[in-house]
Amino acid sequence: MHPSSYPLEPNEADRLQVQQAVETYVQSFLRQLPSLPAFIASPVKGAGLLESPFEEHPGHIEEALRLLQTEVNEPGITAASGGHLGYIPGGGLYYSGLGDYLAAVTNKYAGIFFAAPGAVRMENMLLRWMAGMIGFPAQAVGNLTSGGSIATLIALATARDAQGIKSRQIPDAVVYLTEHAHHCLDKALRIAGLGECPLRYVAMDTQYRMDPKALEKAVIADKAAGLTPWLVIASAGTTDVGAIDPLPALAQIARQHRLWFHVDAAYGGFFALAASGKEKLTGIEAADSVVMDPHKGLFIPYGLGAVLIKNAEQTAATHHYQANYMQDALSATQELSPADLSPELSKHFRGLRLWLPLKLHGVAAFREALEEKLTLAQYAYDQLRQHPAFEVPVAPELSVVIFRYLPAAGLEANEFNQNLIKAVQSDGRVFLSSTLLNGVFMLRLAILSFRTHQDTIDLALEILLEKAQQLEQSHKEEK
Ligand SMILES: *Cc1c(COP(=O)(O)O)cnc(C)c1O
Repeated sequence: MHPSSYPLEPNEADRLQVQQAVETYVQSFLRQLPSLPAFIASPVKGAGLLESPFEEHPGHIEEALRLLQTEVNEPGITAASGGHLGYIPGGGLYYSGLGDYLAAVTNKYAGIFFAAPGAVRMENMLLRWMAGMIGFPAQAVGNLTSGGSIATLIALATARDAQGIKSRQIPDAVVYLTEHAHHCLDKALRIAGLGECPLRYVAMDTQYRMDPKALEKAVIADKAAGLTPWLVIASAGTTDVGAIDPLPALAQIARQHRLWFHVDAAYGGFFALAASGKEKLTGIEAADSVVMDPHKGLFIPYGLGAVLIKNAEQTAATHHYQANYMQDALSATQELSPADLSPELSKHFRGLRLWLPLKLHGVAAFREALEEKLTLAQYAYDQLRQHPAFEVPVAPELSVVIFRYLPAAGLEANEFNQNLIKAVQSDGRVFLSSTLLNGVFMLRLAILSFRTHQDTIDLALEILLEKAQQLEQSHKEEK
């Protein structure tokens, strides 16, 4: 058959032509990015995509890129923007994109050591690098996942089996956490069949950190009541306020009562690369399992989380499977295969999207960027506090700053701040989000994009003040 009869294999000239169009689009996106809005509230929300159904005949790259631009990239949050200061911002390092491109074209089967020994070594090497960063021993294992939620599922399923929790014990098997634990923990418990475990929401101190005394009291009371405490979930960087639970004290209680100690460091974990962050994370090394997200703290595009677990045998016992059709893969055991440590079998070779930027930028660039985020949060905190109309209840431990505007007398603060966040979001130059702290509506500045710098923070503060004053003004005029 003539090569042209294999339409799924474009020739080199066609490949280069399409790639050039894509690269032209990418460079133009990156050139415009500093002036793009961080949020576009589109009325149609990408619905134009549906008006372009799949056809039998081939299409053109220009048409595809046009749809991508107007229907996908414009509406919603510009997550690649430094002005993304909501939720926990991601990143989107360019070299990660090239890593994904290489991984996709070579399509190494990175789930199994036999199939891709180098790819599996690369992923395990990255995991050992992270393990070293948080003081985990060399025997610890891990898995690169699609994100923190799946990493959490792997950790909690392992914890369940390591603690010998069988289904009939679940209604008596108590889990300890705070109300600021991320909702992916509730989801993971439910998916792992642990949805009926009693949850104890342990009291927090004034800075929203778990109170170790309250934890100990609850564990002792539950034991006395004939229940089975088995799992303590701590946060190293809560999503709401960026708080770090007192890890050393919690670890000690967990050890004493033989509870699994899980630390959710999805957001905060990579601050271990920065000297001041590392100090704040002291005690994380005592965890049985840790989740940390490279697609947050290492600025990698969405789709990369990590779980690290000290007990390798138990992790494999929970997740490995021997199937007849896999028999060729069983003999090669120099490195544990990702497929034996996760629910996934076939998987994205996601290590390359982290390995390439680490190789090309060097670790120091990441360390400096993380130090900068901590400094920026302190800067934002200082600036907000200088303005009498802003209330800033806690100093930032990491890079989340929580605050609200106290409007002129006669205006209800919760409603005012709700309107303020709406006004900031519809302005769109920066994107901020909000949360409720004990029923009080608070605004959040979450600083984690490698593209966020001091001018971004200054702009955000300027917009906040401008919108707050406009709201106060329009209220006066209504009266
Ligand atoms: C983002 C986050 C998660 C969830 O991780 P995903 O990567 O979004 O699945 C869990 N815990 C904390 C503290 C987070 O910030």
